[in-house]
Amino acid sequence: MRVSCTNSSQTGTLRTGYLKPQLCIYCNHAVADTVDHIPPKLLLAKPYPDNLLTVPSCFKCNSSFQKHDEYTRVIASIDVRNARHKTVKVNMPAILRSLEKPEAQGFSKYLASKTTPTTPGVTAPEPKPMIQQLALLYSTCTDRRAKAVGDVFNYVAAFHTGFSVWLLVLYDEFAWAATITDSDHAAVNSSTS
Ligand SMILES: [Zn+2]
Repeated sequence: MRVSCTNSSQTGTLRTGYLKPQLCIYCNHAVADTVDHIPPKLLLAKPYPDNLLTVPSCFKCNSSFQKHDEYTRVIASIDVRNARHKTVKVNMPAILRSLEKPEAQGFSKYLASKTTPTTPGVTAPEPKPMIQQLALLYSTCTDRRAKAVGDVFNYVAAFHTGFSVWLLVLYDEFAWAATITDSDHAAVNSSTS
């Protein structure tokens, strides 16, 4: 997935110092004169976290993602399932202002034509899909690990008090996702002993 920060005010300046210039990771031929934020800063709200990831990028590639980033932010933010998210609430005034701009009128009309008003008080259908539940559990864990075994087997795992979250991929196609609780371990241990 290509992600980026989006405009000149959000495009960081790459500090090359005495190191030789790096190439843009996207086009791999232009000198990287900016850094691209992952995820795009547009999707975040201030104060920004201090562990933002950046990759070296040329200005042309970096700024080429702007429309995609804005589109992603609007679509994700106006979805009722995200309405209670703190960052969405903070960013919503700016999103609404951007939709009121003359150049956004076509997009605004398109959104309105595809939107169904919701009943106040009715939000996301429950339960959440399993992958969302896993992702939320994963995000609560501070101990996260990932490993690839050759090109055969990859996993990410995260550990919390009482449970761990696992995503394993075999041969790029076979995926297995699960949570394991301490009581599962106890059950396995007692059944194998
Ligand atoms: Zn580039």
